[in-house]
Amino acid sequence: MKPLIVPFFISHQGCPHQCVFCDQRRIAGHDGGLPSATELRERIARFTASSDGRPVEVAFYGGTFTSLSAEAQERLLAPLQPLIASGEVMTVRLSTRPDAVDGEAARFLRSRGVRTVELGVQSMDDRVLAASGRGHTADHVVQAFASLREAGIAVGAQLMPGLPGDTKETSLASLQRVLALSPACLRIYPTVVLEGTRLAEFWRGGSYTPLGMEEAVSLCAAMLRVCLLAGVPVIRIGLQPTEELEASGTMLAGPWHPAFRQLVEGELWYDCLDRLMVDVPAGATVSLVCAPSRVSDVTGQRRKNLERLRERRGILVTRVTGSADLTLLDIALIHAGGTVAGNLLAETARCPSHIQGGYPFD
Ligand code: SF4
Repeated sequence: MKPLIVPFFISHQGCPHQCVFCDQRRIAGHDGGLPSATELRERIARFTASSDGRPVEVAFYGGTFTSLSAEAQERLLAPLQPLIASGEVMTVRLSTRPDAVDGEAARFLRSRGVRTVELGVQSMDDRVLAASGRGHTADHVVQAFASLREAGIAVGAQLMPGLPGDTKETSLASLQRVLALSPACLRIYPTVVLEGTRLAEFWRGGSYTPLGMEEAVSLCAAMLRVCLLAGVPVIRIGLQPTEELEASGTMLAGPWHPAFRQLVEGELWYDCLDRLMVDVPAGATVSLVCAPSRVSDVTGQRRKNLERLRERRGILVTRVTGSADLTLLDIALIHAGGTVAGNLLAETARCPSHIQGGYPFD
């Protein structure tokens, strides 16, 4: 059963760095100090009341948790201990920087119920990391993975394609290096330019150009294909819409869309449909059946996938309906010539390597 996340944002708390892209206050949608023990308990109780029996996971996002003072880390984790002991809280997850975790920090977190740590990896290319002002290298990532693993903590990774100096090749190579470390999950945030960041200065001065929307969707689709084939869940693609992020004057440039993930998933489904329709004659009318939650991904935003199939293959898709009998990866094409059963994972595995996002690059 999927856990119910109780999120706490500890924006910019504990972070002595200033990465070129970062405006924590806006990204997290919150500003201010650490939550008190009372605030922690009250919010957890509120969420638990509507958990419907789902396991509760407390998550500390934003900032650099393990750069907080030992006293502050303890202050945040201590109130959770009785709740963990009683089973009210099942697990704790948090995010931090790769160079802020060593064996001692990892063992401390494990002893306080932390089961997952998400590392802000962003890139595994040292030149990209340096150009982005990250202040750590790819080696720090490898060491952090090892320390956390050894302590019995699952490790997730966040990647940011489109950073200064990054290319499609370096983004995909970073992904391959992270996957070689067997992460528990990934988040992919294409780089955007926020007001008040150093990246905004670079962009204004003409020394930085973010990925275009189509480019970002295509690159993230390539990354998602690689993760799908590797069996690593991608739990988020694109920054979450918040009031602050969407406020006028905040987002200056870059590939941001409130439903960015749907654009990316739509690309994978288009490739899948295109392959499955190879023997369907032009002029045919087809209806599609998929899992109910996949209907909009299969259709594509503004029916983009259906339009492309009509334009490129001359096939008219008349309906896309959801069926609870199909898994999230299954699809069925029904036309006058019969029914074609397909599966997103199987079709992705059959894509040529340049479409999968593997090597060689297109
Ligand atoms: S380390 Fe994290 S919180 Fe600190 S400046 Fe960089 S992105 Fe922002």
